[in-house]
Order: sequence, then structure tokens, then C-alpha cells
Amino acid sequence: MKTALITHPDCENHELAGHPERPERLRAVMRYLAESGLASELDTIAAEEITPSRLNRTHSTTYIEMVERAAPAEGKIVRLDPDTYMNSGSLRAARLAAGACIQAVDQVLLGHADNAFCAVRPPGHHAEVATAMGFCIFNNIAIAAEHALQHERIERVAILDFDVHHCNGTVDIFRDREEVLVCSSFQDPFYPNRYNDFSNDHIIISPLSAGDGSIEFRNAIEKSWSSAIATHRPDFILVSAGFDAHQDDPVGQLNLTEDDYIWVSGLIREFAASYADDRLVSTLEGGYDLRALATSVFAHVATLKT
Ligand SMILES: [Zn+2]
Repeated sequence: MKTALITHPDCENHELAGHPERPERLRAVMRYLAESGLASELDTIAAEEITPSRLNRTHSTTYIEMVERAAPAEGKIVRLDPDTYMNSGSLRAARLAAGACIQAVDQVLLGHADNAFCAVRPPGHHAEVATAMGFCIFNNIAIAAEHALQHERIERVAILDFDVHHCNGTVDIFRDREEVLVCSSFQDPFYPNRYNDFSNDHIIISPLSAGDGSIEFRNAIEKSWSSAIATHRPDFILVSAGFDAHQDDPVGQLNLTEDDYIWVSGLIREFAASYADDRLVSTLEGGYDLRALATSVFAHVATLKT
């Protein structure tokens, strides 16, 4: 497979001392991809900031203007919610993270890559139409989905999310959009405790209990995602790739390992091969143990590349 890696060093300028969603996450990922040799097999592309009109397809004008007004001067911090901060580098980082996802979709649709991974931050899947939440400012994967749907050949998409947290933002954005299938596995009860039990024929939930590991994760996904994908027949697969369900993660209480990320990534690739002519774009969400994050991203991207 030809796999693109979209990233930008300015995504490291979003920073608040002591916050778990920190620049070292991205640095650890990029260093491991380089040292393992995998990065040399990928087409690395510099992310560009998303344009306002594309951002506006997913988020309300009022919300975008609020975020722009909130962006602080150098040395200052503002909080959009108790967990979600902005420093002077955050607005550019958030625009780059969203822009990377647009570029990734374009790379795949133009045939320049079979699939793509966006190594970016801040993450996105908690950001709702008009609300910043849970470390997320703009909903990167939802923005990617909207962009893919603009293409004449793409009528239906699927967003698959295996972060330890439920993707309340993605559900908020697509809850009434039948052309978007959203499948999410997550620890429950757990943050965000918002939309956690919301489901319909295109919003599929796979709740897991604290302490669950490989067996429960794989059973839940095999039980609910495969049949939903077969029914939906997506033209494009999008992935919210969070790695905070790893057994070493300090935030979540699930017990996944790199082998589980290889397994789920392989399954998602099979979905893409069966229904979407391999078209697949994945973006980084959570993952807060630096070593586990780096090795898990490697497992995920190496499986996309294989
Ligand atoms: Zn998470």
C-alpha cells in the first residue's frame, strides 16, 4: 500500500504545562516512526491550515468566531472548557490538524495514496458542532468526512473510533445524517458521559467495562461493526485512532495491546478493501503513555502500509 503521513511540527506549539495532551505525544510518535524506519516508507506531507469555508461545513460560524476571539497572546492561556486549553500556538495547531485531514482525503481521492494517517494534535472527536470539549477544538475526523462527501463518487462514509472515550462530538455532528455511519468502542461509564448511550441505525455503540481487554474488545467489534459496515457499504472509511485504551495508558482502564491495534487496523483495512476501493484516512486522537502511544501508532500505521 502507498500510505501518506500528514503532519506538521507546529502542532507541537499547542501546549499547557502539566496537561496530559502535550507536545511530547507527537514528538514520541514521530521519533518512533523515524527510528523504526517506517517513516521512510511513507509519503510525508506537511499539513496546511484548513480554510474557513471548509471549517464552516462542520462547525457553526458562532463557534468558529468564538474560538478565534479566544486565541490568547503569547504567554497566556485560556480555557474553552475545564479540560480544553488554548495558548498562542493552539489556533494554528488546530487549523493544521483539521487541514491535515482534508489533505489526507484529497491524497486518497486523487490516487496519490491508497490510505493516509494524520499525526496531528489537538485531537478532535469530542468537539461538537458548537462546543469545545475533552482536549478537542475542531472535530478533525468529522471535517474529513464532510470533505470526502463533497466528492461526486463518495455518497456514504463510515467513521470508526477505537479511542477509550466515546466520540460524542462526532455523534453530535452526524446524528441525523444517515449517509455517515459512526461506530465507536469505548469504556463505559466514562468521560464524556454525553451521547454514550445514544444509538440509531447509523450510530453504533460498543461500550466496554473498565478492566476489559482483547477478548471483550474483539468480540464487541466483530459483533457490531462488521454487520453495520456490510449494511452501510461506505465509499470511504475514516478512523479516529485513539490509543488510550492501551493497558499502559494512565487515563483509560481498558487493557488493549499493540496486537489489538494490529488486529483492528487489519479489520478496518479489510472493510476499506471490500467496500471503499481501499480508501481510508486515519487521524490521531488520544493516547497518553508516550511509549505505548508510539508503539501503538507504529502498529496501526504499519498495518495500513502492509
Ligand atoms: Zn480518548
